[in-house]
Amino acid sequence: MATPRKNEKKTDAVKAASSEPDLGFTGESSWQYEPSLEGTDHLRFEKKYELFIGGRWVAPKSKKYFPTINPATEEPIAEVAEANAEDVDAAVRSARTAYDKIWSKLRPAERAKYLYRIARAMQEKARDLAIVETMDGGKPIKESRDFDVPTASAHFFYHAGWADKLDLAFHGRPYRPLGVAGQIIPWNFPLLMAAWKIAPALACGNTVVLKPAETTPLTALLLAKIFEEIELPPGVVNIVTGAGATGAALVAHSDVNKIAFTGSTDVGKRIQGAIAGSGKRLTLELGGKAANIVFADAPLDQAVEGIVNGIFFNQGHVCCAGSRLLVEESVHDLVVRKLRDRIATMRVGNPLDKNTDLGAINSKMQLEKIRGLVAAGEAEGAERWSSPCALPKKGFFFPPTFFTNVAQASRIAHEEIFGPVLSILTFRTPDEAVEKANNTMYGLSAGVWTDKGSKSFWMAQRLQAGVVWANTFNKFDPSSPFGGYKESGFGREGGRQGLSSYVEVG
Ligand code: ADP
Repeated sequence: MATPRKNEKKTDAVKAASSEPDLGFTGESSWQYEPSLEGTDHLRFEKKYELFIGGRWVAPKSKKYFPTINPATEEPIAEVAEANAEDVDAAVRSARTAYDKIWSKLRPAERAKYLYRIARAMQEKARDLAIVETMDGGKPIKESRDFDVPTASAHFFYHAGWADKLDLAFHGRPYRPLGVAGQIIPWNFPLLMAAWKIAPALACGNTVVLKPAETTPLTALLLAKIFEEIELPPGVVNIVTGAGATGAALVAHSDVNKIAFTGSTDVGKRIQGAIAGSGKRLTLELGGKAANIVFADAPLDQAVEGIVNGIFFNQGHVCCAGSRLLVEESVHDLVVRKLRDRIATMRVGNPLDKNTDLGAINSKMQLEKIRGLVAAGEAEGAERWSSPCALPKKGFFFPPTFFTNVAQASRIAHEEIFGPVLSILTFRTPDEAVEKANNTMYGLSAGVWTDKGSKSFWMAQRLQAGVVWANTFNKFDPSSPFGGYKESGFGREGGRQGLSSYVEVG
């Protein structure tokens, strides 16, 4: 059994559960692996990355660059151009020209061919894309290799399939593309978010100006190199790097027809205010505080695996992360014990190690935010348990952590933590589970674990969440629409429904 930390506070539930027989997980001591590092010697990073505008790499008019660092080592990887309003204007103008002269005139089947080429080139470069994603963002290589990169290229394949079948997508109604789409994405799934936004926009005949997040710009820039290589016509996709001011300049530009934003609820609200009355179309995919709801009749080991997958495998850096666990009171102690034993086996450390389960927190700022909210949870009286795992001395790391005895009104039960921190609450009846799950300003996703299909459907009808997973969690597919309710935003991305965000239907 893993040795608890000296300062570990045990809940009554955990204390009671500790005296029960061992369940088979024996903690970190029996799970030693030799390091298995992904090789990086073959990668050649440029010292400076410029802006990708009109199919060329151009120096920013701002003359400014900012470093992007590896959060696992705190070492800089490269300098990246910081686009100002003039640079954004150049990118929008180039997207407009490409829209008017090339992309909107191309036969849909020709657009499809470009999308297929992008998808295939991503597959060919999958290993390097995964390594760079891990180095720039901190997520474990097994996540970027097995999930992010394959799902990103799947989005291009899927939308290539739609490009020449759009006549069937809107019930036979006429449609036309919107024009220039400004797309702003966050740091949690940098390449996947870029693919998720660019692929449907291009399939529907729009051109794009994309702004990646300031802490994870590199894979979007590698994607631009793929666009060059497959000879995507110049200006069809432009990439402007920078921070909030660059995004704000894109939102404010008068010749942008549509803004697609994924990020925090605060910035989403600001964007909504900024474009009000401008006629621009908008989709917002914002924060979440998803509940994983575990009934006593659920397959509990499977549920524990789903809970771990939902909140810990991505350092909790997922807007739809299952950051609240609602567990039926009668199995609370058992689930907490199984969860603690399972978490104690998780390996936290170098994200480039193929055995690592939990990598680095994306930035110092994010780590401080997590620490602040965890301290607030303790101050509000919840009982904290953190894995006794050793953390690397350098880099931004946080141990997988859960709280029991969480009050409904406490900050950790309401605020998005965006870290590997789970708040555990209990319920006695399905009605109470629904009420507690919906008691949040968010509504992005939820998970239901039960042996009874009828109960899953009953819950799904009542849960205010864009996605409800049954006996699984965090499953994605390009053909499934994704999006939220309430302060998690509006509009859907993915699937047939996601296409309507990029066309005007007559
Ligand atoms: P997170 O908390 O996930 O970092 P943010 O909402 O701060 O989310 O950032 C998501 C994206 O929005 C990033 O690309 C960021 O640079 C951009 N951004 C931040 N502030 C603004 C703004 N005022 N207008 C437009 N984009 C912004």
